Amino acid sequence: MDFQADILVIGSGVAGALVACRAARKGAKVIVLEAGPEVDRAAAVRRFQDAFPKTPESAYEQAPFAPHPETDKPYAFYAQKGPHPFNSTYLRQVGGTTWHWLGSAIRLVPADFKLRSLFGLGVDWPISYADLESWYCQAEQELEVAGDNDDDLGSPRSAPYPFPPIAQSFLDRAWRDALQPSDYKVRPTPQARLSTSSGGRPSCRGSASCIPICPIQAKYDATIHLARAQSLGARLLAETCANFVECGQDGRVEAVRFMRSDGSTGRVFAPVVVIAANAIETPRLLLASASEAFPAGVANRSDQLGRNLMDHPDSSAGRSRDNRSGLIADPARHRESKTSVT
Ligand SMILES: Cc1cc2nc3c(=O)[nH]c(=O)nc-3n(C[C@H](O)[C@H](O)[C@H](O)COP(=O)(O)OP(=O)(O)OC[C@H]3O[C@@H](n4cnc5c(N)ncnc54)[C@H](O)[C@@H]3O)c2cc1C
Ligand code: SF4
Repeated sequence: MDFQADILVIGSGVAGALVACRAARKGAKVIVLEAGPEVDRAAAVRRFQDAFPKTPESAYEQAPFAPHPETDKPYAFYAQKGPHPFNSTYLRQVGGTTWHWLGSAIRLVPADFKLRSLFGLGVDWPISYADLESWYCQAEQELEVAGDNDDDLGSPRSAPYPFPPIAQSFLDRAWRDALQPSDYKVRPTPQARLSTSSGGRPSCRGSASCIPICPIQAKYDATIHLARAQSLGARLLAETCANFVECGQDGRVEAVRFMRSDGSTGRVFAPVVVIAANAIETPRLLLASASEAFPAGVANRSDQLGRNLMDHPDSSAGRSRDNRSGLIADPARHRESKTSVT
């Protein structure tokens, strides 16, 4: 079962779906390989309603051919070896992790790019905030971000938010009033949630189940761009896991091997391959593609592949460092800390 494309995209999360959509708009023949299954939104909402505990993954089935990590079992999925345990998760299904993201669309601030020179921490980025600024604007347009143009969040903007801010909730207003005598303000976070209806999607109704699922798709998820890409001719192969990247002697990718949920196998040949399989699964695939010519894996001349993972700051990381086993003993406390962070 072999396929040919102009552009092969591995992963149908927000990164893969945006690339697939843009390439399809330009008339390219696009194939998207997605390891996980399609999601039925109504069935996922029902699963969430019935679930206990209501973790970010509780709305979604564990596909045996594409399992995902779970918040309340942080050591069941990952082999944790480093000193700082990784405590976040992701989803492996059509549309990827945006199914259970919160939708907060916050930019970095310019100083984030110079952590080493300004604060003596980590490393400086090889690019600056200015290099990214126009791309932030494009991403905000695509994800239809709602935000307050009058609120300076420390990230200079060259274009307004495409949508006005989400209306304050009853609780937001209660906090705003309670904080009135102080210098603290209740400010809207830029959100990839619709503040007014658009493109057949309704505006946010404030039901607050964004994590793990928006029942009415007022919150952005990557199936939106995936559907657009498909309507422009892109082909989605769901339940199809890329498992080896084949390279020629010149180091260029020649084909990508895959296995489907029914056990059948094949290859996709494409001159351009975009691996957008998530910050953990992308290096996993590249490292697993080691060969005689590339013993350290594909795209790993720097030996940095799979290192320097960054994610949400998580208050439980400090607790776990104090714990001699390096494990978080109390999953309930772990859940609590994740919820407050995301
Ligand atoms: C609970 C939670 C809340 C979050 N909230 C926010 C937020 O408010 N704001 C924010 O900016 N970020 C948030 N994030 C982070 C954000 O959701 C992710 O960074 C983002 O969705 C990652 O997108 P991606 O396209 O890189 O990867 P993913 O969305 O993870 O997509 C990768 C896709 O690739 C597929 N795949 C993987 N391996 C293979 C393979 N070998 N072959 C084929 N397909 C493969 C997977 O099945 C998956 O569908 C949150 C994360 C979590 C867990
Ligand atoms: S409708 Fe509910 S779940 Fe959807 S974005 Fe609004 S608050 Fe979140």
